Amino acid sequence: MLQVETLRKSFDGFKAVDGANLNVEKGELVAVIGPNGAGKTTLFNLITGQLKPDGGRVVFKGEDIAGLAPYQVCKKGIARSFQVVNIFPRLTVFENVQVAVFSQQRKSTTLFSPARKMATNETNSILESVGLLDKAGDTSGSLSHGDQKVLEIAMALGNRPELLILDEPTAGMSPEETSATMELIKRLASTQGLTILFCEHDIEVVFSIAQRIMVMHQGRTIIQGGPDEVRSNKEVQDAYLGGGE
Ligand code: ADP
Ligand code: MG
Repeated sequence: MLQVETLRKSFDGFKAVDGANLNVEKGELVAVIGPNGAGKTTLFNLITGQLKPDGGRVVFKGEDIAGLAPYQVCKKGIARSFQVVNIFPRLTVFENVQVAVFSQQRKSTTLFSPARKMATNETNSILESVGLLDKAGDTSGSLSHGDQKVLEIAMALGNRPELLILDEPTAGMSPEETSATMELIKRLASTQGLTILFCEHDIEVVFSIAQRIMVMHQGRTIIQGGPDEVRSNKEVQDAYLGGGE
């Protein structure tokens, strides 16, 4: 579904992403891990159009989408959440998701379809799938940090993506919230047929759920493979023990 080939991006000569390679098959749950500063967020920004690459390719369903604007990438079927929470704090939980559902519907509903009712049903079903239905009427800004992060996932789902990209979905969460969110991600992948790519700096968090793991270090891809292969890789061990954080 997604192939990233020798992607590069520098900031004033500093190579933040320096030859990243990544492969995501349809239906897979793939994690990108690497110490803080490894280039994970920059990689995601290059895939989803927040940044334009200096070189390399981002091929999504056979088409090179590198350099497209974020809204164009979203239309192609990729939605994302951000490491730092990015919601409308004064709107309710329901309204935040409905905004995304409406923007998606505009291209798929006809003039005569009962668009509003459909949007309400879809918004409610998304909120139910992430466990936020009982907080639908709450002002988003009043939610716990963990619930705000989950709300962002729900907003991304409102775009009906084929590929969902999550940048550190558990950042700042308590251990309990982290495991609940990992379970949620696993459930979304298995029950909704979604392809999910997420990144994380805590290596232990991902081994339990990711089917394949890509390890980044200093902007480069060290390896992509299954959990056992990655865990036993010498370069991965050095990257985590020898530097970063
Ligand atoms: P990660 O998400 O893996 O922690 P980032 O992709 O955020 O890493 O950052 C990778 C490196 O690129 C870091 O050294 C960071 O300081 C640098 N960097 C990221 N964005 C910018 C930017 N807009 N301008 C300059 N340097 C940046
Ligand atoms: Mg980051």
